[in-house]
Amino acid sequence: MIRTDLIAPIGELVRRHAARRGHKPAFEDAGGAALSYAELDARSAALAGHLQDRGLRAGDTVAILLPNCVDWVLACVAIARAGAVSVPISHDAVEAEIRYRLEDSRCAAVIVSPQHLPLVRRLQRELPALRQLLLGADTGVEPAAGERPESLAVLARTPAGSAPRDPQDIHATAFIVYTSGTTGRAKGVMLSQHSMLWVVAACWAPIAGLCESDRVLSPLPLFHSYALNISVMGILATGASEFLLPRFSTQEVLARLRDGGYTLMPGVPTMFHYLLEGARADGRAQAPSIRHFLSAGAIMPASLNRDFEAAFGKSLLDGYGITETSTMVTLNWPGAQRVMGSCGLPLPGLAVRIVDTQGRDVAPGEQGELIVRGPNVMQGYLNKPAETAAALLDGWYRTGDLARSDVNGLLAITGRLKELIIRGGQNIAPAEVEEAVLSHPDVLDCAVLGVAHPQLGEVPVACIVARDGRAVDVESIRSHCAGLLSAYKVPHAVHLVPEVPRTGSGKIMRFRLREALAAQAPG
Ligand code: AMP
Repeated sequence: MIRTDLIAPIGELVRRHAARRGHKPAFEDAGGAALSYAELDARSAALAGHLQDRGLRAGDTVAILLPNCVDWVLACVAIARAGAVSVPISHDAVEAEIRYRLEDSRCAAVIVSPQHLPLVRRLQRELPALRQLLLGADTGVEPAAGERPESLAVLARTPAGSAPRDPQDIHATAFIVYTSGTTGRAKGVMLSQHSMLWVVAACWAPIAGLCESDRVLSPLPLFHSYALNISVMGILATGASEFLLPRFSTQEVLARLRDGGYTLMPGVPTMFHYLLEGARADGRAQAPSIRHFLSAGAIMPASLNRDFEAAFGKSLLDGYGITETSTMVTLNWPGAQRVMGSCGLPLPGLAVRIVDTQGRDVAPGEQGELIVRGPNVMQGYLNKPAETAAALLDGWYRTGDLARSDVNGLLAITGRLKELIIRGGQNIAPAEVEEAVLSHPDVLDCAVLGVAHPQLGEVPVACIVARDGRAVDVESIRSHCAGLLSAYKVPHAVHLVPEVPRTGSGKIMRFRLREALAAQAPG
């Protein structure tokens, strides 16, 4: 069943809930901020009107550069109601990453936290498209005198000159979500309200049972497509309530689960690993009110899935999602046949095939590349026609993931054609890290690989060739990278190698380096 009633313009969804259940809490955050549906409706309408009054046009792009908080959602709803496009940016991103995203998507406005205000003010001088800044997220940091832009909180409570546009065309681009591609430079994935809401209607509502009476505990980073889908669009579509954690914390999540009141919790496998470890350490794996835990973002090991369910006595449903498909492609159905290590069945209404290198379907049990066609597939990559053409063939999105299906159609992801390193659910493109390492003066050549890590799944490791046989200070390479990359992308280790092996066409043969590292490893 696809809940088509949940697919409607964001403004209409919010108005619908405000009329039916205005006092009901919609979103709450750890800083004590909360919005009922009536408040979300009134404030998002006012904020959209103010953005329009200040010259924001339909189709303009607006970056959200805030930590996880209620203002994040308010900004996102207001941007949609103004007919503009949200560009979520990680609050942990560094200058080069922020600059690239603002420039690539030609942002006309940024909703910025006090921490990033000085940086965005500086970038604004070089980005002519960037006309407006609004200050969001009360994080206790005060901007310098004279630096303070208009406040989102104040505008949202002040009547605006214009009514929100509240566009009816839900097939227009509404989100540009940056994903770490294999080419190094992040790609802006263009998604519509329709593609996002379709996933809610075909996955979270009918399979996980997400509905108005749910109270969701969300530790996911909102800038990522997974959270944007379930923790923002899923709540807005169904009229559920949600508590937003600023970031994942084992102790805080365990305590909230124990205290009860939450019915669903989405997470990534690493989070469930830490929750299981934490619960084992204090002997209290309790989540009395949880109906299901939901996992996506990386391979969920069968043993973790089994042990977690045994410890907490609740189902942990794994699903496979990708930014380019507005997230979910598969999910395990509660109560249905389960095969641990499988990410479940394709969503109803979605065409999924596993093909060999010639594009022919492989037999059940055989490995091939997973390709997907359906209403959740992206519109394309922003400003990247060649990459879009390579990724979308006759409407089929080539995932780059290797998969197998059993005779019952249950899928398992077995590896990646593309070389993304997934560290605790966060994607890292080797090429992006290589670029940063290579900019160190003592480095001649470099290749980055993902190596297995017991808690994080995998972590990036750099193999470098020193320039002119110079002695290289490994720590200085890591600190150099820390200035250019988000912390999670910084190589965990740096190994000196005599050369980086490449194919005739210049592609790094990472498997050779992997073998060399394994041969060096003690024991
Ligand atoms: P992203 O676009 O950041 O959401 O990353 C998508 C990638 O994460 C996919 O192409 C897969 O490689 C991986 N992934 C997501 N969910 C799963 C899952 N349940 N099992 C295995 N890999 C997954």
